[in-house]
Amino acid sequence: MTQLVISDVSKRYGAIAALDRVSLAVEAGRRVAIVGPSGSGKTTLLRVIAGFEAPDAGTVVLDGQVLADGPAIAPAHRRRIGYVAQDGALFPHLDVAGNVGFGIPRNEPDRAARLRELMELVELDPAMLERRPHELSGGQQQRVALARALARKPALMLLDEPFSALDTGLRESVRQAVARVLAKAGITTILVTHDQGEALSFADQLAVMREGRLVQTGRPAELYWRPADVETALFLGNAVLFEAEIAEGSVSCGLGEFEAETGGRRGAGTIMLRPEQFLLSPVGPGHEAFIENVAFRGAQCTVTLRTNHGGGGIRFTAQVSSMDRPQIGQTVFVSVKGEPFLLPGSR
Ligand code: ADP
Ligand code: MG
Repeated sequence: MTQLVISDVSKRYGAIAALDRVSLAVEAGRRVAIVGPSGSGKTTLLRVIAGFEAPDAGTVVLDGQVLADGPAIAPAHRRRIGYVAQDGALFPHLDVAGNVGFGIPRNEPDRAARLRELMELVELDPAMLERRPHELSGGQQQRVALARALARKPALMLLDEPFSALDTGLRESVRQAVARVLAKAGITTILVTHDQGEALSFADQLAVMREGRLVQTGRPAELYWRPADVETALFLGNAVLFEAEIAEGSVSCGLGEFEAETGGRRGAGTIMLRPEQFLLSPVGPGHEAFIENVAFRGAQCTVTLRTNHGGGGIRFTAQVSSMDRPQIGQTVFVSVKGEPFLLPGSR
């Protein structure tokens, strides 16, 4: 069932089009990640959905109820939408019980039991209820903010870069905990992030924003392997781009000829390969190249190759397991796993 429908939403701040005819449909229970560079309109979109901002035009409909129709909007507190901001925004003068309890309706019969239940839901020790926000770690603060948002039993949860202030290691574990909590509660979630790894691992639906526009939506793997344009390709990971000559069902580039979906196109185009698609072997088959550099990164290493010895040719990077780490100066044969992707409309 489609739960949230955003249609042609636009919002300007003076000369800046923060949102430019954004449309997005979200199925109930989905986890959506919205990614895009800083300033692309991600926060503005969440604030419009939450009801903190009114759009200039367009509609927002949740569970069949119209929440915004242009500047006419339903107030935020009537929306059954939870919101967790980047810094959690806890009330510093209230303890955890006060913060989480803020979201529990006044007339709820057993507030104490509900508080404990919410703490358990976000995997925090109920003994922490008496602490103040400054006595908690960053990850714990974010879980309290999540518990406060969950207290109102929202139909939709909006998370605006909630993990970005946390250290890398903690970030991964808090993100997984939050994903678990929301899945358990069955709440539709929209996560905003500028971290592509976070988006690819969290979401079952990914939406890419740029300059106020939604440029592509789909499953994470679909967008990773079949990006709509070069910017999206590069935003979602490392990409190797080659100029190519298109034939029927195949493309030719400096590395040879490959089968590819060409969709009837002819002439020149740009193909994309992910660095992990290259297979390097000391013997053929494949296109000969030599190893210009090897950067060790732990589990993986990044290998810079060149198709010609002594300059010229094309240079590209491959990602290989450190167990298969080649030597600088070595000659290898390069083959490709899977197919190159012909970027739409590019040339
Ligand atoms: P993101 O969250 O993707 O970084 P934002 O939605 O915060 O992007 O901002 C989108 C654009 O709108 C930016 O150019 C930003 O400067 C502008 N903007 C956002 N909020 C306001 C505001 N309250 N007043 C003026 N400009 C704003
Ligand atoms: Mg933002």
